[in-house]
Amino acid sequence: LIKHFPVHRLRRRLRGRAEVVHAVDDVTLTLRSGEVTALVGESGSGKSTIARLLAGLYPVTSGTIEIDGATARGTRGRHFREHVRRVQLVFQDPFGSLNPIHTIAYHLRRPLKVHGYPTTRAALVELLEQVNLTPAEQFLTKFPHELSGGQLQRIAIARALAAKPKVLLADEPVSMLDVSIRLGILNLLAGLVKSLDLAMLYITHDIASARYFASTTLVMYAGRVIEGGPSEELVQQPAHPYTRLLLESAPDPDRAGTGPDLLDAGEPPSLVDPPAGCRFHPRCPHAMDICRTEAPGTTELRPGHWTKCWLYSASTEPVPAR
Ligand code: SF4
Ligand code: MG
Repeated sequence: LIKHFPVHRLRRRLRGRAEVVHAVDDVTLTLRSGEVTALVGESGSGKSTIARLLAGLYPVTSGTIEIDGATARGTRGRHFREHVRRVQLVFQDPFGSLNPIHTIAYHLRRPLKVHGYPTTRAALVELLEQVNLTPAEQFLTKFPHELSGGQLQRIAIARALAAKPKVLLADEPVSMLDVSIRLGILNLLAGLVKSLDLAMLYITHDIASARYFASTTLVMYAGRVIEGGPSEELVQQPAHPYTRLLLESAPDPDRAGTGPDLLDAGEPPSLVDPPAGCRFHPRCPHAMDICRTEAPGTTELRPGHWTKCWLYSASTEPVPAR
């Protein structure tokens, strides 16, 4: 049985220079148990903000997040504590997330205690075994500086699992790690998604890894999700000009990397003062007059594959995102 965790019309407001601006604007997506959904975009696109909103670390301006029937609207909702347990975050930097003066055992005991679970040695060993750090006993008495970056990221994953979450948010979980160990961590996460029936949001700037790792990919630009669909289809038949640019500049061996550099087309806009209309219009080779004034609605291209771009919505009625 697949459980659905819908996120509906999520917004986070920032005070813009001239008017109210949504740094995360109207993001609707569904995470599913046992599946990985990738959220792809450049740095500054709002990906990490979405993770923090979903984890309850930032207040939500509007919109809802439903996890197992509990709806969170912000950090003050009565379901907040329960929500925080169900949604766990793994950050990019495995070095920064652990306190150097405490042992690994201490770091694993804390989340178990916070969430009301037994903190026995057996419980700690089980967590270490789930992330393939064996023999587990050897790791319990170590300090963070005695572990490699990959081992520390496994500890960070084990700490997230200690809360027995339903949803795991992995924000660039391998981008600070040595290239040679990235695949091992991604495969560990993929295995946990299946064995623990987790719904996972995999946040990355690397669309090639999204294709490999996630069944569904969402592409984010300047605070909006502008295209989404089955990962393979999205890579083979990208619709939105930004998705195409992202793919052309990705170091994907299948594509020979002959496309223009993304930077040639300009910088991503500031979320404090984004362009009007389609936020991609200053960089878009296909921009039309309407793009400069009005934000495009959602157009479904094929079942489950949709985009927000006037190139596709001229002759179609906008349909709500899945
Ligand atoms: Fe380009 Fe217009 Fe489509 Fe935006 S809506 S991506 S500016 S064509
Ligand atoms: Mg980030």
